[in-house]
Amino acid sequence: MSEPIGRIVGIDLGTTYTSLAFLDRFGNAITVPNMEGEPLTPSVVLFEEDGAVVVGRDAKRAAFADPDLVASEFKREMGERFYSRLIAGQRLSPVALSAMVLRKVVRDAEHRLGEIDGAVISVPAYFGDTRRKATEDAARIAGINVIDLINEPTAAALAAAFVEYTRRGGDPSDLVTARVAATAPATTLVFDLGGGTLDSTLIRIDGNRFEVLACGGEALLGGIDWDKRLVDYVSQQFIREHGVDPRTDAHAYQATYNSCEEAKRTLSNRKRATIAVHFGGLMSRVQVTRDKFEELTADLLARAEICIELLLQRAGLTWSEVDEVLPVGGSTRMPMVRDTLQRVSGKEPHAGLPADEAIAHGAAVHAAILFAQHSKGKKLAELMPDLGDEEPSFEELTASLAALAQGTQTPVEEAQVVDVNAHSLGVAARSPKDNVMVNSIIIPKDTPLPTMRSKVFGLEEDNQRMVIVRIIEGEAADPAACTQIGQCVISQLPDGLSKGSPVEVVFRYDTRGRVHVKAVDRTSGVSAESTIRRDTAMSESELMKLKDEVGRLVTD
Ligand code: AMP
Repeated sequence: MSEPIGRIVGIDLGTTYTSLAFLDRFGNAITVPNMEGEPLTPSVVLFEEDGAVVVGRDAKRAAFADPDLVASEFKREMGERFYSRLIAGQRLSPVALSAMVLRKVVRDAEHRLGEIDGAVISVPAYFGDTRRKATEDAARIAGINVIDLINEPTAAALAAAFVEYTRRGGDPSDLVTARVAATAPATTLVFDLGGGTLDSTLIRIDGNRFEVLACGGEALLGGIDWDKRLVDYVSQQFIREHGVDPRTDAHAYQATYNSCEEAKRTLSNRKRATIAVHFGGLMSRVQVTRDKFEELTADLLARAEICIELLLQRAGLTWSEVDEVLPVGGSTRMPMVRDTLQRVSGKEPHAGLPADEAIAHGAAVHAAILFAQHSKGKKLAELMPDLGDEEPSFEELTASLAALAQGTQTPVEEAQVVDVNAHSLGVAARSPKDNVMVNSIIIPKDTPLPTMRSKVFGLEEDNQRMVIVRIIEGEAADPAACTQIGQCVISQLPDGLSKGSPVEVVFRYDTRGRVHVKAVDRTSGVSAESTIRRDTAMSESELMKLKDEVGRLVTD
């Protein structure tokens, strides 16, 4: 395997699978196989009875025999304090479970690449602040230095742009001179249907600038839902034959589920598949045709279609203004998905990217861009403390950077990634008009990041000494229908303030999509308490404790 440029990698932490990639010194994005030799590691964790933890393929297999010892799909619950099921009798957090998966993929990659200094981790574009923070926490617990988070569709578009650059004859062997080129500005729809989520995004690529125009998705729509339709279908056939339901037994359910997922993959290549269902010593063989499968799941596809039509509407675009459709995520291998994309967009979907690995590849490209940016000045040592002069990739990079300084080359670092916030951010405030609590939006959805906005609110009472600012994410007018991400308390306001005295709430969204809040009492001029107390986040000491635990549990 070739040397990575630096030891910064890209990680796609997926609902069903996780993968890690790096950009080698020739500019090729390469997925690093895990110790089982597979490019994708199932995001599944098994707690064995003796306390050992197993992550990946073997954990997924064990889900069949010991479903109560196995956690999966926890990305769907990221941001919740606890995972929805007890695993091996324990209450676990989705953050800790994700940390275990990250730890495994990084350790495995380190066996092949040497110590990894940092990573760019992808997150769904619609992840709000709480879930982004949870992802960062998971990485920290796994002992990973998070260089940046990148939105999954942006990563995919970046990977596609890199491939396109190569296809047009660009030389990717020198990252620093490689220009992520697009001859004319182009708008791409990234349609990412993975195991658990649909993430659809419109991105405008103008030269080296990547601008997310709008994003939307369904947190609970993915390959798993297609699997479950097959499970229901074959279970009903089983009930018809034998009068009992295999779904009532955890073991039989899991075995049936696994067979159905296999059959689903078969149906992507063939017109029919046979699924064997075993339960209580009985057996049914159910044949499913592709047409039948498409009929059983038509409403799921319709939901996906509505999602992208709404996205286009929100961005104020028509299909004729979309230049390319980029399918990403394992579930876009289903012919029905590509057919639907083609039908609604009138365009042949892009076929040049490995659907499962594109996001990790894009995260790796982003990591390399950041590496090039940071290493231009004197920050190289800071960023890559373990790289000595003898490292060939380091030398190569330094030589390229020297040429760059003389103005002979155009750097890839010109590539800019401009994202937007996926959710409106506001505060719960009392409306002076009708005295009800409303969502007072400060930064509307789809605002380009980074951004800073503020709004002035009046105190509710005379002599008020404290203000609790409830920070919420969401579009609904009713704060109860939004997600509260935390609160910010201004205490010890001066005496004698009258009702209506101004308090300014300043929100800053950084490029990672993370939120920073400041509240200022404009009368006294004092900017008071300004950190968000997150409702579901872990404390620093909890985090450090988990880091030790995960380090101990997830070993080679
Ligand atoms: P991802 O999270 O992007 O890796 O997507 C994983 C999902 O893609 C899972 O639900 C897989 O069952 C599904 N998947 C992978 N390969 C195929 C295929 N050939 N046909 C249909 N679904 C697939």
